[in-house]
Amino acid sequence: CAAATIVADAVATIAATVDEHVDELGRMDSIAGDGDHGIGMQRGSHAARDAALTARDAGAGAETVLVRAADAWADKAGGTSGALWGVILTSLAGKLGDSGTPQPADVASGVAAGLAAVMAYGKAEVGDKTMVDALVPFSGELTRSVDAGADLADAWSAAADAATRAAASTADLLPRLGRARTHGQNSVGTPDPGAHSLALIVTAVGALLD
Ligand code: ADP
Ligand code: MG
Ligand code: MG
Repeated sequence: CAAATIVADAVATIAATVDEHVDELGRMDSIAGDGDHGIGMQRGSHAARDAALTARDAGAGAETVLVRAADAWADKAGGTSGALWGVILTSLAGKLGDSGTPQPADVASGVAAGLAAVMAYGKAEVGDKTMVDALVPFSGELTRSVDAGADLADAWSAAADAATRAAASTADLLPRLGRARTHGQNSVGTPDPGAHSLALIVTAVGALLD
């Protein structure tokens, strides 16, 4: 169906975006982390793309296409961010359903569910210098814009801009969670890699919705 094709195309767009930025993401993660964010995101998003396209070609609906992508991502990526992207996409999938056309409000509530699941799973709060710092404003702006009557492309674009600004602002923060804790002071001046990759991804997916 049409929604399943859009979902599969979006996952393929994520993989292509990660490919473009793989070295940059690795360098950012090497400042206070272990340097594997680029390669981990690449492994995960490529597996997700392959699983999504296979499911779509087999006639699966949007929810199933995205669940297959999420499972493949978490399975193949390794690392914290891979598990968290699996959690985000699984939560979003649950609001899309396998039949019918998902409405903008379904997408907004799916992203909100993904945010809640990431915070429950990873225990990060706003200000800990993680992807949560980009996901909170992304979800907030998406819900606000959809509630105000925007169509999905406009709402997503406003939300992606909010995520991009928030990801850049993480440069000022000291990390408090994960491996970044040990060399945290080195990362002041550099954005959190997971927040930055999330902003790049939602921006690229937004261009697809236009
Ligand atoms: P790893 O830290 O296992 O090497 P990655 O390098 O792929 O995994 O991902 C690191 C990113 O994961 C961080 O930049 C941050 O955005 C995100 N992250 C790490 N721990 C958490 C957490 N507890 N909650 C949310 N995001 C987290
Ligand atoms: Mg890492
Ligand atoms: Mg690692």
